[in-house]
Amino acid sequence: MVVILLLISQLLFLSNIDRLQIKTTLDTNLWHLFIACNLLIVVLMITAELWLRYSKQSPKYGVVSCGFLVSYLMYFVLEPFIDGAQMTLMMPIMVALIYFDRKLLYLMGLFSIVFYAGVYFGLERPFLHKPLLEFLMVECVFMVFVLMAIAVIVRAREARINLERLTKEGQDLMVERAISDKLLKIDALTGLYNHKTFHEYLDSLLEQCESNNLQLQLALFDIDNFKQVNDTYGHRVGDLVLKVIADKVGGMIGLNDFAARYGGEEFAVIFTDKSFSESYEAVEKLRINIAQIEHLQAGSKPITVSIGICEYQLGDGKELLFRKTDKALYTAKKQGKNRVVNRAESHEEEIVSHG
Ligand code: GH3
Ligand code: MG
Ligand code: MG
Repeated sequence: MVVILLLISQLLFLSNIDRLQIKTTLDTNLWHLFIACNLLIVVLMITAELWLRYSKQSPKYGVVSCGFLVSYLMYFVLEPFIDGAQMTLMMPIMVALIYFDRKLLYLMGLFSIVFYAGVYFGLERPFLHKPLLEFLMVECVFMVFVLMAIAVIVRAREARINLERLTKEGQDLMVERAISDKLLKIDALTGLYNHKTFHEYLDSLLEQCESNNLQLQLALFDIDNFKQVNDTYGHRVGDLVLKVIADKVGGMIGLNDFAARYGGEEFAVIFTDKSFSESYEAVEKLRINIAQIEHLQAGSKPITVSIGICEYQLGDGKELLFRKTDKALYTAKKQGKNRVVNRAESHEEEIVSHG
């Protein structure tokens, strides 16, 4: 855009020389130089454009060196006509500022100061008779400009650091929230979901079951004679046993199953993508595996679980599902522990005992 503006203003200027009655100091012998400078500027801009489009390397150096060359060519185009043409030499410093690159800025600042000294003593002073004061003023403007550009870069860095800090704080907060969310849902000793989460989850699942006609089974586990384990080996060993059994339950269930520590030494598992017989098989396998664990601190004797399992009947509601499952668990205990009882069996038993 700068180059297009430059070319347009030159055209306007040249086509109105007579009307504006501007006396140019342009030597007619120098016309070819003037045109060559303009042509070179256009060629440079095209080169820079091609560089940006096709070069895989960092575009920074292409843009900076092009800006540097264009600014000097512009200077030679403007110099005889316009006071303060030296200001175009500020362009390389501006380009360095675009990249917020401090090293590049120092380099370009130094370059501009030294180059202009060469231009002044080689051209402006001997041929154009410019006063030394003008030279000093231009050099001072360069230095002030570099200082101001540094201030902009420092400010931008501060703003970036601030933004990064805010983003990081936001991320930390999210992680903290996720962790505390998890802590609220998980039982500290066993790592399974806690009682409250279990009920919330079951509520929402039962709602889905009712509206979408889905299958669901609930299994309640209770460790057999656990009081005895505590009494014999102490509460600490009891805790260890609880953790080991909970790990087994959590580790053996499927991705869509949900295990929670329902009470002190009781666990609950919800199955949502299995048929009743598949769930039954799964808890039976769990029971066998739990019984096979060797608890070294608890005398290496097997510690078993009793399990009641029940399939949800649409329309039953949570209360009834629980009562039925609990009854099945109760039956398992009554029948001698270390077994799985399903609701149908516990129901028969009830009929039998009542009959
Ligand atoms: P049953 O086979 O009939 O289930 O007998 P039980 O001894 O397992 O049942 P009971 O309800 O009499 O005792 C449960 C015991 O579980 C009592 C309690 O001290 C223990 N318990 C509950 N929560 C914890 C716990 O967090 N840590 C430990 N170590 N023991 C616990
Ligand atoms: Mg119990
Ligand atoms: Mg028990």
